[in-house]
Amino acid sequence: MNAEIISVGSELLLGQILNTNARFISKELAELGIDVYVQTVVGDNETRLADALSQAKAKSDLIILTGGLGPTKDDLTKETVANVCGRKLEFNEEALNYITDYFIQRQRPMTENNKKQALIIEGSKVLANHFGMAPGMVVTEEDCTFVLLPGPPKEMEPMFKFELKPYLLSKLQMNTPITSRVLRFFNIGESQLESEILDLIVNQSNPTIAPLAGDGEVTLRLTVKSSCTKEAKRLLDETEELITNRVGSFLYGYDDTSLVEQLFQHLKDNGLTISTAESLTGGLLATELTSFPGASTVFKGGAVSYSTSVKENLLGVSNTLIEEHGVISEQCASEMAKGAKRVFQSDVAVSLTGVAGPGLQEEKKPGTVYIGINGPIHQKVIELSLGGSRQAIRERAIKHACFELLNELKRWNLVK
Ligand code: ATP
Ligand code: MG
Repeated sequence: MNAEIISVGSELLLGQILNTNARFISKELAELGIDVYVQTVVGDNETRLADALSQAKAKSDLIILTGGLGPTKDDLTKETVANVCGRKLEFNEEALNYITDYFIQRQRPMTENNKKQALIIEGSKVLANHFGMAPGMVVTEEDCTFVLLPGPPKEMEPMFKFELKPYLLSKLQMNTPITSRVLRFFNIGESQLESEILDLIVNQSNPTIAPLAGDGEVTLRLTVKSSCTKEAKRLLDETEELITNRVGSFLYGYDDTSLVEQLFQHLKDNGLTISTAESLTGGLLATELTSFPGASTVFKGGAVSYSTSVKENLLGVSNTLIEEHGVISEQCASEMAKGAKRVFQSDVAVSLTGVAGPGLQEEKKPGTVYIGINGPIHQKVIELSLGGSRQAIRERAIKHACFELLNELKRWNLVK
């Protein structure tokens, strides 16, 4: 089965709103194992929508439309779908009662155009709208199924989940469950990752392997079709092992877990505490570490040691060291981490100093970053040369700090 999503609305074409409906539906369909081949955006124009529908009908089994189910003149989705299918519109009593009651309860006059929302395409299955007035509908014409959903995400999303999804699962006999596992990698480019496992991607069948690149991160989604949970897990484990045998050192986590979350969880699970000393990132890492519930058991405190005097007076970085090596240096990062660990009495400390840009600092290029890590026994400094804008450099520096610290904690046998 292949699907197309048609998002209706001139505001989408004008760039006034983001097409989050298409993203939501694509994600949901992927989880159901339905391939989305095309996403289309059409303005509120009957001729152009009819055109898009005819083209979609010729190539897709399932066409999901959002938007244009409301009461106003520019809402013309169901009229157009009805025309393309050669069907009439008829009043749905239940929907009409719902709308009438809505206005009675709120003691507001019901204008005539509101009745329009109770019109449905004849022979369609109605999808109840529990968060608005216009019902959705499913129409099957020849081999093609049209689904009409409202535009507002707060109406569309629950309608998809609670009305459409069960219908698709039962009517379309999709009884082979789909299980996914996302492997998350850091510090490896998408092309490098792909080259390392190209043969696995080329020969993929069950599970399928889909790469996706993010900022400094790449994910691989493994999707397996199997009605047996144990079998699905075995197939996923086997493929994961083939992949990690080659690029395991870049793997940091699974599914929706972010790098900082992974670090936080590892520290928490192993009863370790952390503190920070941040210069170019101005407290970003501390902010992220405190975003998790129970942060106080893990995060002891952090210094935003932006100025040289704070580096010296609070963290105890020596003036001679700064005069000799500068603040953008391996030596300074090392002393900052040592100082944070001492001041905040944590098991590990991480420091960040560098040039966020746009200009040079201490004759060092923007993106030059030093990360200091100070553990119970060992310590380490990592030098990076990052690219991007000021904000990108700061955000990437945080990710690198988390990734490096995670690796060191494993190397030092402090976490499993
Ligand atoms: P209404 O009854 O509110 O008129 P509708 O089904 O007629 O609903 P539209 O008029 O097309 O839908 O859109 C209503 C609102 O829903 C838009 O102004 C926008 O805020 C939101 N919306 C519509 N389409 C999308 C989309 N593809 N992605 C995200 N939001 C959307
Ligand atoms: Mg509308």
